[in-house]
Amino acid sequence: MSSSRIDGGQTRRGFLQRSAQALGTAAAAHLAGAEARSAGTSSQTRKDGKPMIIDAHGHISQVEIQDLEGEYRKNWKYGMGHRDNLYLMDTIGIEMQVLQCAFYLHRYHRRVMKEHPGRFVAISKIDERLLPGDRGLKLIQQHIEEWGFKGWYYDCWPPEQRVEMGMDPKEWGTPDPFHHFDHPRYDPQWELVQSLGVPACVTSYSYNFETLGPGLLNVLKRFPDLKVVVIHGYWPPSCVQDDGSVRIPDAVVELVKNYNVVMEILPGLQHRPDLYGPGDTVLKAFYDTFGPSKLMWGSEYTHVNLPTVEQYRRQFDYVKERCPYMSESDIAQIRGGTAMETYEIRT
Ligand SMILES: [Zn+2]
Repeated sequence: MSSSRIDGGQTRRGFLQRSAQALGTAAAAHLAGAEARSAGTSSQTRKDGKPMIIDAHGHISQVEIQDLEGEYRKNWKYGMGHRDNLYLMDTIGIEMQVLQCAFYLHRYHRRVMKEHPGRFVAISKIDERLLPGDRGLKLIQQHIEEWGFKGWYYDCWPPEQRVEMGMDPKEWGTPDPFHHFDHPRYDPQWELVQSLGVPACVTSYSYNFETLGPGLLNVLKRFPDLKVVVIHGYWPPSCVQDDGSVRIPDAVVELVKNYNVVMEILPGLQHRPDLYGPGDTVLKAFYDTFGPSKLMWGSEYTHVNLPTVEQYRRQFDYVKERCPYMSESDIAQIRGGTAMETYEIRT
């Protein structure tokens, strides 16, 4: 462990020096501090000692002209405008949303964080085809250090889905990072994100159910201080066996228990009423196996038929109503405590 830390530190310094030369200026550094600070205020805990109430997986995409980036496509919509989200949050009592970004939405997310400090934080998602090249690494570093983004979202999409979208899967590199992100070729990205101290938010699908756990274990053995968020949780429907029992792969248990890895809980989505299996048995298994400090609630408020207050409230109340075995403080941890710790959000 110690040798990889030393190696990581030396390489990190080299990378940061190279990047500083490339990016730039004292003005950029000044901006960095200012924007990073605007994401939260000064104190770590509230007077009542309770965690904030945070939706750890939100989306917005109603960009204005001022936010346009090169590749924005009008038909690629993820969620509503940030004012809609603020209305929902205020009505239910949610203090903050963690916005999962897309590579044509960074400017919009940056503006929304500035205009509503303390209400939104954003996660960077660059075009993964730029990785592990320097251009991709510098973009991640810029979003985190200069713009105050709180994490890096990594979702290479299953190769078969890229084909369906009319893309050439080879553009993502060889070996393909969807299943082989633990290949040494991709070490520079893990090394950078570990050095930046923010989580890598890695997406779990049915497609990578067997490869994601062992792959992340390989990465974390080399970069043991890396924080990881498993987006969508470890794909819950795939944890349900034919006989209805729940199986969490051994690699995943090791991963979450031994490293700084947390899992999202996204219940109540209309198109996935069975996300956690019959009787929400997967939710119970996650809780029993990992405990509330490894779980965090989010709404994924994109995939809803009707974006109503009632729908958002149903999703917010889901864990409290269906998991009577959880205490009030467990619920508070899942509804915000874990997100505060993972993304280093301050009240
Ligand atoms: Zn999402």
